[in-house]
Amino acid sequence: MIRLIQGDLTRLEVDAIVNAANTSLLGGGGVDGAIHRAGGPAILEECRAIRAKQGGCEVGEAVITTAGKLPAKYVIHTVGPVWNGGHNGEPDLLANCYRNSLRLAVENGITTIAFPNISTGIYRFPKPEAAAIAITTVQQFIANNKSLKEIFFVCFDDENYALYKERLA
Ligand code: ADP
Repeated sequence: MIRLIQGDLTRLEVDAIVNAANTSLLGGGGVDGAIHRAGGPAILEECRAIRAKQGGCEVGEAVITTAGKLPAKYVIHTVGPVWNGGHNGEPDLLANCYRNSLRLAVENGITTIAFPNISTGIYRFPKPEAAAIAITTVQQFIANNKSLKEIFFVCFDDENYALYKERLA
């Protein structure tokens, strides 16, 4: 079941929230900064351990850590593509973010998960296209996988919220 809400991802009591991270996994601005601020140092510590093992995270891929002080149990960190005109594989890479995050969730027994609007902030992915990709990819995934109970799209800004509302109506 897909649910739409507007607000702050870090406050959700779900099994996992998804972070729009960067390849370094060392934190950044936007939702990434908010997650590390609210979750405390435990998350960054685990990100550093993953970095030491596999050298960060590639665009479109995802890794999982615990969620520190957050009400969620896990944080799934995925790296969205930076928008560079759209002819550099951006749409497929963004779809990979959603798909790989969901795959990792299922592997970890997660049944409730919340996504931010990946790549639509600092990475400048056009919001209408990003919303379409996010929704289609999640719908396709859950059609073939029944273990996920609730998937939240958490929109922070009014523009994304309106776009998702229209598309999910
Ligand atoms: P990216 O680098 O992938 O573009 P950003 O964090 O800059 O990541 O933006 C991704 C989306 O997250 C944007 O739509 C932004 O409005 C939203 N966002 C920022 N802070 C929060 C938050 N606390 N909860 C949910 N969404 C947030």
